[in-house]
Amino acid sequence: MTDGLLPAVGRFEGTREEALRLDADDPLAYLRERFVHADPDLLYLDGNSLGRLPVATADFVADLVREGWGRGLIRSWADWIEWSRRLGDRLAAHVLGAGPGEVALSDSTTVNLYKLASAALDLKPHRRTLVIDADDFPTDRYVTQGLARQRGLTLRTVASDIDRGLDPDRLRAALDGDTALLVLSHVAYRSGALADMAAVNTMAREAGALVLWDLSHSAGAVPVRLAEDGADLAVGCTYKYLNGGPGAPAFLYVREALQRRLRQPIQGWFGQRDQFGMGPDFEPVESLDRFLTGTPPMLSTAPLVPALDLVEEAGVDRLRAKGRALGQLAAGLTDRWLVPLGFRLASPEDPDRRGSHLTLRHPDAWRICRALAEDFGVVCDYREPDRLRIGPSAAYTRFIDVWDALDRTRRLVAEGAHTRLPHEKARIT
Ligand SMILES: *Cc1c(COP(=O)(O)O)cnc(C)c1O
Repeated sequence: MTDGLLPAVGRFEGTREEALRLDADDPLAYLRERFVHADPDLLYLDGNSLGRLPVATADFVADLVREGWGRGLIRSWADWIEWSRRLGDRLAAHVLGAGPGEVALSDSTTVNLYKLASAALDLKPHRRTLVIDADDFPTDRYVTQGLARQRGLTLRTVASDIDRGLDPDRLRAALDGDTALLVLSHVAYRSGALADMAAVNTMAREAGALVLWDLSHSAGAVPVRLAEDGADLAVGCTYKYLNGGPGAPAFLYVREALQRRLRQPIQGWFGQRDQFGMGPDFEPVESLDRFLTGTPPMLSTAPLVPALDLVEEAGVDRLRAKGRALGQLAAGLTDRWLVPLGFRLASPEDPDRRGSHLTLRHPDAWRICRALAEDFGVVCDYREPDRLRIGPSAAYTRFIDVWDALDRTRRLVAEGAHTRLPHEKARIT
């Protein structure tokens, strides 16, 4: 089905009618109305930063507040306490390619990264080097810098091309008998470059190192096969392509065979063997729950139920196929319209080598991004140093939305509408 869309994109003449035809042929088009479109004229290309609100979410959360909290009170915990595992198992089965009992919801991606990296380093006490991609997402770099400083380890930063992603040969050269852990993003946050997870895991295993994957820009956008690809550890967000809402709890994955050998550094009561025995000393539970910490935020967890219903119904393979086609349309129109205006694609050209978002480079990207949001009804991201990041989400972005957004972009730049804005950056870009 969606494969049929791809050659059509390749032969695209660039007309609006063609984009409308792609929507008419899109088997996932019906999902759009399952999301709230409070401003029907807004072209939202930021699903990779904060996914849209599913229609079912508000009532689901209200019910948890009124019934679960209001009526059930503390009795509701008998059920709520299972949610991390239950939702983790759904993510494992439908999004992450992992087994039951290998994925849990907990904390933020940042905190989970710290917990799992710490545990992994403890497993390899004689190895003194941590390896990271120089262009990894900031929080990943900062957390690993902090760990290296606390433990007196060497942090080896592998230089990577910010448009093409990490070069596997460079990565291989950075691993040696002293490497304990490699921290990497599966889909690069800026360029969208997609790493070869199986190849990297093999490379690390041969060096005797563990790999901790950050799947924040992958989950719900590209198929992830943690078990099949031999992954040890992973973390990621649920508020991007999974549409779990701002600050929804993150997920963590630990391969079954590793679980009992790892101890996480935050010894909270949710990781305790007999939690309500309230014994004197910490004894981690045997299962993955040893990576939990404290009381889960139920009001932020609740939106994941309707959100995962939608992702499961669509299926990640179909979301990927459509996401790839949306990206191809954006890349094709960029070539045709925006390159002559000074833009350049700052993502891998091969759609199989990138996730669902793509990035365009322009010396005035910041002011263009602002003008798009303020006067042209297009929301996308600015990313340093001079890039516009476009994140269509296959669950609710139409082909015509991509067409219209790039059409508005070309008109804006041709008119110079951005040039009256100041150069100063905002607090949040
Ligand atoms: C969005 C993102 C995060 C965010 O982490 P939080 O702890 O939720 O703020 C982390 N890593 C990557 C790669 C991301 O894209």
